[in-house]
Amino acid sequence: MKLRKALLVPPGKKVKLKRYDPDDTLGFKNDAKSQQMLEKSLRRLDALQYLLYASKKCALLIILQAMDCGGKDGTIRHVMSGVNPQGCRVTSFKTPSAEEAAHDFLWRIHKAIPDRGEISIFNRSHYEDVLVVRVHKLVPEAVWSKRYEQINRFERILAENNVKILKFYLHISKKEQKKRIQERLKDPTKNWKLSPEDFKERKYWNGYMEAYEDALRYCSTPWAPWYIIPSNKHWFRNLAVSHIIIKAMEDLNMKFPKPTFDIRRAGVVTLVRSHK
Ligand code: AMP
Ligand code: MG
Repeated sequence: MKLRKALLVPPGKKVKLKRYDPDDTLGFKNDAKSQQMLEKSLRRLDALQYLLYASKKCALLIILQAMDCGGKDGTIRHVMSGVNPQGCRVTSFKTPSAEEAAHDFLWRIHKAIPDRGEISIFNRSHYEDVLVVRVHKLVPEAVWSKRYEQINRFERILAENNVKILKFYLHISKKEQKKRIQERLKDPTKNWKLSPEDFKERKYWNGYMEAYEDALRYCSTPWAPWYIIPSNKHWFRNLAVSHIIIKAMEDLNMKFPKPTFDIRRAGVVTLVRSHK
């Protein structure tokens, strides 16, 4: 299956999001076969996380970015349902607190980087500092325009220290966003998910698309690639994201560590003692 290659943003590629169909499913159908693939991928993810935790050589950082209602929460719920919570952390990045804003933009990010053996999922990330910050002119262009390179260098340091980085942009259409906002308005159990910003931010859609295009173009690197996931269809989004995570983890060539002592001898001695 060529899903990974098809969804990867090649480094430096000029991205025009209008050319990416958010309804695309790359030939997959929402049928029993895809359902089976999804279930199988969750079992595989569980096994790979166990190995990551045991081998403690690498950490895995999964970055999720999307427009409002883009499906970040749903993706996290899906991926998390396949792993042991003990080795997993989710961090949601909101408007910076006074303490965070008093530091460089990567300060709060660095603190949330996973330990070796752990998986960390970022719900939003340092990319907000070249997205919302750029669209709303929260800092001058001279400041945000330097951040692409700063981000690349930061991610490179992490990668060189055994942090495997995967970045997913969940691509939905403006129409799909409207549909999801309407669903949230209608369903009293989903009202809480809406905020006044969701309505305001829609007006900035084109500005966001341009900001995303630059982030995807300038910050998809061999050490921290971006993937554009067509996300109008939840089932395909989940299938694609879990597939890419699994393939990346398989590439890590992880092995269970060998015991640091003579396990047979120690085991026999302990067993004999405990049966006195
Ligand atoms: P939500 O993810 O819906 O809870 O919303 C979090 C809000 O925090 C979004 O409106 C983001 O744009 C905003 N946010 C996240 N990071 C930053 C940042 N670095 N600067 C300004 N706003 C941010
Ligand atoms: Mg929101």
